[in-house]
Amino acid sequence: MECDLCFKECNAIRCPYCGKYFCSTHIQPEVHNCEGMVLDQ
Ligand SMILES: [Zn+2]
Ligand SMILES: [Zn+2]
Repeated sequence: MECDLCFKECNAIRCPYCGKYFCSTHIQPEVHNCEGMVLDQ
């Protein structure tokens, strides 16, 4: 699985807000400019 932001091959985690997969560096919604978080506000 690769990160949807930096495309690095890693143990990616699924974001519960947008459903995309990110590495541990980019999993926080504010770091990957999360679509789900924007809609929530
Ligand atoms: Zn990443
Ligand atoms: Zn997200």
